Amino acid sequence: MSKLRILAVNLCRLILALTFILSGYVKAIDPLGTQYKLKDYAAALHLAEYIPDWITLTGAIALAMTEFALGMFMLFAIQRRLVSKFTTAMMVVMTLITVWIFIANPVKDCGCFGDAIKLTNGETLLKNIVLLAAAIVTMLRPMDMGRLISKSNQWIVTNYSLIYIVCTSVYCLYALPTFDFRPYHIGANIKKGMEIPEGAEQPEFETTFILKKNGQTREFTLDNYPDSTWEFVDSKTIQTRQGYEPPIHDFSLTDTETGEDITENVLNHKGYTFLLISRSLAYADDSNFGDIDQIYEYATEYKIPFYCVTASTDKDINRWRDLTGAEYPFCTADETTLKTIIRSNPGLLLLKDATIIGKWSHNQLPDTEELTASPDKLPIGQQTDDGVTSKLIKVLLTFLLPLTVLTIADRIWAWSKWVRNKEKKESDKIFQIFKNKRKMRKKIVAGNWKMNLNLQDGVALAKEINEALVAEKPNCEVIICTPFIHLASVAQVLDQNVVALGAENCADKVKGAYTGEVSAEMVKSTGAQYVILGHSERRQYYHETAEILKEKVDLALANGLKILFCCGETLEERKAEKQNEVVKAELEGSVFHLDAEAWKNIVIAYEPIWAIGTGMTATSDQAEEMLAYIRSIVAEKYGQEAAEETSILYGGSCKASNAPELFSKPNIDGGLIGGASLKCADFKGIIDAWKK
Ligand code: PEP
Repeated sequence: MSKLRILAVNLCRLILALTFILSGYVKAIDPLGTQYKLKDYAAALHLAEYIPDWITLTGAIALAMTEFALGMFMLFAIQRRLVSKFTTAMMVVMTLITVWIFIANPVKDCGCFGDAIKLTNGETLLKNIVLLAAAIVTMLRPMDMGRLISKSNQWIVTNYSLIYIVCTSVYCLYALPTFDFRPYHIGANIKKGMEIPEGAEQPEFETTFILKKNGQTREFTLDNYPDSTWEFVDSKTIQTRQGYEPPIHDFSLTDTETGEDITENVLNHKGYTFLLISRSLAYADDSNFGDIDQIYEYATEYKIPFYCVTASTDKDINRWRDLTGAEYPFCTADETTLKTIIRSNPGLLLLKDATIIGKWSHNQLPDTEELTASPDKLPIGQQTDDGVTSKLIKVLLTFLLPLTVLTIADRIWAWSKWVRNKEKKESDKIFQIFKNKRKMRKKIVAGNWKMNLNLQDGVALAKEINEALVAEKPNCEVIICTPFIHLASVAQVLDQNVVALGAENCADKVKGAYTGEVSAEMVKSTGAQYVILGHSERRQYYHETAEILKEKVDLALANGLKILFCCGETLEERKAEKQNEVVKAELEGSVFHLDAEAWKNIVIAYEPIWAIGTGMTATSDQAEEMLAYIRSIVAEKYGQEAAEETSILYGGSCKASNAPELFSKPNIDGGLIGGASLKCADFKGIIDAWKK
């Protein structure tokens, strides 16, 4: 349904666009013709005498420009809302005017398409009703009109269209209309244009007779004409059928000297004839009279008839003679006919055997220096019109081609932008998934009390931490890992939903004669949930090897403990850039043998040995780099998803002051805290870093 609606809206938009472009263009190439039409309308409203010519001419150009621009804006879907509203408003006005001309018939042709397409008033009304309906459709759904050009490049189309149409109007005013749709175009034979073909429809007339008898007056037609007792008073004849009207029906020339009709003489002349056409010599441009006189001299030399054809009075003809020294003969013709023949005052016509072979505006008269031979030997004597095809090619090259290139370039650019956006959205989505995953994996702050605090102090600290965090819920999981002797007592004072409990170690044996050792089972029985394994201090001072740690890991997991597994390199190893290698070996040696299910109970703590308890902290970038590396090797082993779900902590001189910076890194999921976990305030300060 919505596809159908979009199709309908765009069809309406296309109809409007093409109609407006065509009507604007044909008006623009013939500004004088459009002006004459506006004057016809003004005359029908009895306003002609109040409106000066410059207003009607400016109005003609403005009208052409408005229609052409609206058409272009519609076509390219520029300012869709505004343009569709404006078009509808314009169509309302146009339709009302055509209702008026349909009813009152003040003008024969609406002039919508200049001389290019002539419509009857009925056809114009129908056309405008269709266009009004189309405009309303576009106004109701302006955003359904798909853009042909991106918003950022619309100004190019807008300015280019406006400049093009104004330049076209001005050029055609200076020269002549580029396309001549009138019956007097180059190549037209005037004599042929006046012929009425055999069998053509004849006009029909009806005469009404007004007769009188015994003081009574009545009207009769030929069909019911009464007897001779009725006395004739008057008769009226009206035309009831138009009949065939030849394209040229008003070409008649009268010699001003003799008063003779010289139409036949001119049209029957074999060879060339110059006609200088001036609808009004009073308003004719006299700036080129020198050239005109030279052309007359040339015509005289080669015995070519030359007439000035005008609709002017004798007074104006004499004034022109005085002004320009014109010696050529003058003849008169109908003013409208002269306006139709050439849109220039004066303008020059060259006929050959009654065919128009050349037409020049007074601004572009033939170059007199080239008039050195009879016309048949010169370009002037050949038909000078370029032909419609070559004119269309010129329009194509000057207007359509640049616009088409622009549109294609714009569409390619818009398409590549769309692809880039799509790719960005895709990567944003992946990043979002990654971020969500990060949100999904546990953020942890774990304390490692090491061998500090007696039982009472330990319990007191545990209580304090518990109270503080119960009162102000942390944004992460909190674990405190205590010496064995604290575990059972601390378990009593902790709310393990808020603060979980862990041991710092467990034995690598299940049970038995291992004096001084504490098994994983024992740890679990205290209520602890976690155990730290692989801490560097245990590796260093108690020589816990990868194999021993592997045993401990297995036993801890077997007893339901979760493991904070530590790894990290010495300063020498880092200096030798062996940190990745060392960490990988530690993980491979003790935890990478686990299956995926068991892996879910592993939290990794990266603790560079050189940073533990030394006050030297790895920079957040160093830590991030290593944690990203650990995640990548976890991904290699357990897959991307498992890696994204594994919490990896940083440990080594982490404090409340550097925790926010460290925790802001995407791969750092929290910290394993030694020294700073021995005071509630310090520890809480680190926990609160997750709130920042
Ligand atoms: C630790 O021993 O796990 C540790 C990180 O210690 P500290 O925070 O004191 O460097």
